[in-house]
Amino acid sequence: MRVRALILFFLLCEALLAQELPKTTAENTNYRATTRYADVMEFVAAIQRADRDIRVETFATTNERRALPLVIAGPPGVVDPRTAQASGLPIVFIMANIHAGEVEGKEASLMLLRDLVSSSRKMRDEVIVLIAPIYNADGNEKISTEHRKTQNGPPEGVGVRENAQGLDLNRDYMKLESPEARGLVGNVLNRWDPLLTVDLHTTNGSFHGYALTYSPMLNPNASSDLIDFERETLLPRIRERMRSNHHKETYYYGNFLNQLMPEKGWYTFDSRPRFGNNYVGLRNRFTILSEAYSYIDFRARVEVTYEFLHEILSAVEKQGKKMMKLAARADLATPKRQGVRFEIKPWKTTEILWEKCVAADTEATAPENQGETPHHVQRTGQIIPVKMTDYGVFAAKEKDDVPYAFLIDADAQHAVENLLTHGIVIEKLARDADLEVEQFEIKGAKAEEHAFQGHHEVTVIGKWKSRKVALPAGTFLVRMNQPLARLAFYLLDPRSDDGLFDWNFFDSSLEGEVAPVRRIMKPMAIDATIVSKP
Ligand SMILES: [Zn+2]
Repeated sequence: MRVRALILFFLLCEALLAQELPKTTAENTNYRATTRYADVMEFVAAIQRADRDIRVETFATTNERRALPLVIAGPPGVVDPRTAQASGLPIVFIMANIHAGEVEGKEASLMLLRDLVSSSRKMRDEVIVLIAPIYNADGNEKISTEHRKTQNGPPEGVGVRENAQGLDLNRDYMKLESPEARGLVGNVLNRWDPLLTVDLHTTNGSFHGYALTYSPMLNPNASSDLIDFERETLLPRIRERMRSNHHKETYYYGNFLNQLMPEKGWYTFDSRPRFGNNYVGLRNRFTILSEAYSYIDFRARVEVTYEFLHEILSAVEKQGKKMMKLAARADLATPKRQGVRFEIKPWKTTEILWEKCVAADTEATAPENQGETPHHVQRTGQIIPVKMTDYGVFAAKEKDDVPYAFLIDADAQHAVENLLTHGIVIEKLARDADLEVEQFEIKGAKAEEHAFQGHHEVTVIGKWKSRKVALPAGTFLVRMNQPLARLAFYLLDPRSDDGLFDWNFFDSSLEGEVAPVRRIMKPMAIDATIVSKP
């Protein structure tokens, strides 16, 4: 009798605890609506009441003054980056809602958080999980049924893609013009140094047979050890587990070049680090972009994203130590050459699940726009595996040597602030110096006709030439023997397709004959002092 009473008591306690755990707005409305900012904050507060070991920080404050929460779910005693580091555990950072019309990541990451204080609590002994459930909070609050109308729900509407400045946060990783991106880089990536960043989205492109597609880092300037590990070990394992545990097909993100002619190939998107997955790769850390399939219903998208997150955590639980070793090794290895311009390449021939579509009118044979809902086609609902080329990788079409150090003119304060926000180590010359350098002689600079994200991006043409120059004290110095060398190179090489020259940071000096960024090719002793962030 006594044992039964005890069991009943425990069951009652468990039931009470379960009752206290919050539900998302999606769950509460039978998937008619998505969670609002205030609901996210209340959800997180309820989780904290249920589990005192859950921490919450603010990593940025938006233009509309919303504090963006970063939830920290680790073992007891992990309260800050220092204790996280000391634990020796891998850190996984999950970010959702960067595009606030793509809301299932927000719902799924909150559900995962609830599991991490209940059914999956043990996971926290192996992996520290950071969750930013509502990255573009300002965009989220502009909910309307008029947004993303080709997406299959939720029927009560979703937010907008851009933040309150009109910026796409997934194009802001290099120029860092939004408070959200500056906070993310400064207070999450630099401060916590997550081993793996997971960025949750929803597709709006081709009709295919996958509940979810994903992308690793795509820029080949990232460490090949990391790239190979993601493609050969991490992602295949997760894909296999999605199939065996959840009976769902997933594959690398892409779009058919032509929805009516799948044999023309499957194309991934872009190698530039303005996109988060590519940016994190340049920082020598792992990254997975997740794209729930827009045309399955909202509940199914939340569910597959939630399952994907669980499988990612279980993969890191198994592989985390190995991943940490690879990342640490990449931090110590400065590359010799890096690309400045890239092109898409065939990766492999494989079977990809195509949804058969037929021409709806005469314009149908025109290739579709990459990443948009195909026009002029009629869906049939038939999913057919088709053998085709997967254009899933990029290669450098132009490369440049990685110098010992870059030098930046003393008046380029705006550029230096950007580099410091990225976490790049900057010094300045302690005294005037005559140095053997290479300077970039500008032959031309061409600005894009169309504005993109408020910029006319610039392509600089020219040549490096050796010179002995007199440089004044205060000239900035960026040595490449630092962990963020790949990122620093990308930002500073004048020909880079996504660097500070491209984003107009140096426009005022492009009239001159010599770029305001020089380089030192051979290691040498330089008297310089560290510059700290203002
Ligand atoms: Zn997106």
